[in-house]
Amino acid sequence: MDPDEIIRLRRDFHRHAEPAFLEIRTSSIVVARLRGLGIEVRRGAEAMRTDGVARYPDAATRERMRGRAVESGADPDLAACAAGEGTAVIAEIAGDRPGPTWGVRCDMDALPLTEATDEDHRPTALGFACQDGFMHACGHDGHTAIGIALAARLSDHDFPGRVRILFQPAEEGGRGAAAMIAAGAADGIDRFVAVHLGLGLPSGLVAGGCEGLLATHKLRAVYRGEAAHASGTPERGRNALVGAASALLNVMALPRYAAADTRLNVGTLHGGDNVNIVPSYAEMTLEARSTDADICDALTARVEGVLRGAAAMHDLTVEIERTGGSTTMTCDRQLVDAIAAIAAEKYGDGRAVALRPLGGSDDASLFAREVQGAGGLATYMLVGGGNRAPHHHPSFDIDEASIPVAVDVLEALLRGTPNGRTQ
Ligand SMILES: [Zn+2]
Ligand SMILES: [Zn+2]
Repeated sequence: MDPDEIIRLRRDFHRHAEPAFLEIRTSSIVVARLRGLGIEVRRGAEAMRTDGVARYPDAATRERMRGRAVESGADPDLAACAAGEGTAVIAEIAGDRPGPTWGVRCDMDALPLTEATDEDHRPTALGFACQDGFMHACGHDGHTAIGIALAARLSDHDFPGRVRILFQPAEEGGRGAAAMIAAGAADGIDRFVAVHLGLGLPSGLVAGGCEGLLATHKLRAVYRGEAAHASGTPERGRNALVGAASALLNVMALPRYAAADTRLNVGTLHGGDNVNIVPSYAEMTLEARSTDADICDALTARVEGVLRGAAAMHDLTVEIERTGGSTTMTCDRQLVDAIAAIAAEKYGDGRAVALRPLGGSDDASLFAREVQGAGGLATYMLVGGGNRAPHHHPSFDIDEASIPVAVDVLEALLRGTPNGRTQ
């Protein structure tokens, strides 16, 4: 698959961005392309389990997104499977000689974010911006294209071992990897590589691994009180929004830890019914992160204490749910160095580094934990995309020239040769 076609695929996924667990069109196109290459595919219930997923999209939402997918070119049968059973896809390709089983994670989900509409934003200027309130603002459109291109290259079977490409839903929010692991997606993987574009690195710079991936817990808290007339009988109300707002401020006031980096964010807070009604309901989503998994757990327990305390203070009930999460990850030096050596050989020393700090979280760490726990190796490879706007920003974009770089380096890694071809 040549670079132009890889970029065409990326633009198509970008234009039809789909958020967590609703990657119905994306999944359908991945399956169709893989089948066209004669590759064995696991999908739907064979690739993920939906029963343990918190806040899985309801049937009406999936049906609406299925319709949107079919209208924009998805195969109806494939879209029905993705909507009904789940959007994860696993491509399994056997090499023609013995070797390790590799797992390559490519995430597919976009964000619920409205894309920039100004002409300085390249996807808008070139007509492939998404106009439906979703946006690929993290580069996962590129990751999906990378996975397909890699499968196409390796469909000649000229490599040792086996390659399993994991097309993962719902990386944002940290829910998709666990759902795939529950279906056995990590079983038997000896070497695991996740790939991420962008991350503020210069375009085309390849890092063999990353440091500082943060453990995280995502939470949802629902406060319930009692509605009342705001003027006639305010004393009969129990104000859920005041409780949630108190919780918000006090979560953000929790102390930092000396032993590790921590992060806290309250991302959303919605509540109340009308200007003249004491609010009886409020819903908050929030997250804690740390470079130390135990400190992340401890900080999250403190957050939950604040959430409950605010409820008690205002005589409310609160339901707290952990909706997702991921852990820390230590990249194995053997894989880090192998990737950096390939990049240095292909593009020169100035385009290759061993480790770069990441400053985010990714549930690829859960795949890595499975693989490393069973004695295998794992890394999280970065390819700079020269992005000017930060990730998760309406103007986020990547230099598309970085996408084929990721494919070339991964191909060489999996073929086990510096230039990607059998000697
Ligand atoms: Zn992201
Ligand atoms: Zn991402």
